[in-house]
Amino acid sequence: MSIISKDISKAVALLTNEELVAIPTETVYGLAGNIYSEKAIKAIFETKKRPFFNPLIVHIPSVDLLNDIVDYIPEKAQLLADAFWPGPITLVLKKKTIIPDLITAGKDTVAVRVPNHATTLELLKQLPFPLAAPSANPFSSISPTTAQHVEDYFKDTIKMVLDGGPCKSGIESTIIGFENDAPIIYRLGSTSIEAIEAVVGTIEIKNTVTEGGSLSEVEMSRSQKEISPNAPGMLARHYAPKTKTILTHNVSETLKQHRQKRVGVLVFQNEIKTNTIKAQIVLSKTGDLTEAASNLYHALHQLDKAELDVIIAEQFPNYGLGKSINDRLSRATKS
Ligand code: AMP
Ligand code: MG
Repeated sequence: MSIISKDISKAVALLTNEELVAIPTETVYGLAGNIYSEKAIKAIFETKKRPFFNPLIVHIPSVDLLNDIVDYIPEKAQLLADAFWPGPITLVLKKKTIIPDLITAGKDTVAVRVPNHATTLELLKQLPFPLAAPSANPFSSISPTTAQHVEDYFKDTIKMVLDGGPCKSGIESTIIGFENDAPIIYRLGSTSIEAIEAVVGTIEIKNTVTEGGSLSEVEMSRSQKEISPNAPGMLARHYAPKTKTILTHNVSETLKQHRQKRVGVLVFQNEIKTNTIKAQIVLSKTGDLTEAASNLYHALHQLDKAELDVIIAEQFPNYGLGKSINDRLSRATKS
């Protein structure tokens, strides 16, 4: 029997009983539990096979509740919360002592956001506690953007996926930390750097992709070795299909090197005209980066199921959400 359901009161009952429920958000589906239940939080890590050094994001129903979670809100954090919540920005701030160490991987900071999804906002309003929710996928694999993706991953281990339809943004939130009150991007995501800079001015990006979308050698070895990376999404191999994936500026040229193989192609706007490939997905025929981002993971899930030898993905323009898409694609190519 399917574990997918639209019944919010059933989700409330399960979460109140320290069980896990997968929840819809505008970014990706999350695997949610009561932040104050040790049993639920341990189950999140076990179900995902996520290492305990990777902290979780806390989800709250409105900006007014931020003061219950964090000790101190820098001015620019308040500006960002007011400008973007509910929405795909996560703020990493000094935690209150009541926030369990399990959530924050022992750090004195906690990641928090208000998700922009009517079903989950309603759920959060009905619960007397916030929800910890990392993406609802096994550690390192492709994030789920439909209820079906989650069921395919976890039907034997969780009791319910709350169905909220396909995720509109389609890639994870942008994570922002603060050093000496200055905002720093820890993970590129669904809110573009340009939109963030319009609110808080020029912002530094730390521990993330360099120009062209791939991590430098130094950054890669550092983030892989780090016991407690600032943002787990920063681990080099993440968001990855099982199929070998190549990222290229020139799909037609790269195709020539893989003639004898079963090849799938993932392109931004323009279809590749050839009959030698087994599958092809165009992410946005109109060249809209927002649409491309929202289709990205579903396309990777589909190509990963198509029994291919290799997926050749096209590099995106390196601005706006194109930067975030390149970040995820470059992590998908690490083996
Ligand atoms: P996921 O939802 O699976 O992408 O995982 C949650 C994300 O929250 C991770 O990628 C971390 O980057 C981020 N995160 C959670 N807590 C913290 C924290 N205290 N400091 C920095 N990043 C955090
Ligand atoms: Mg994740």
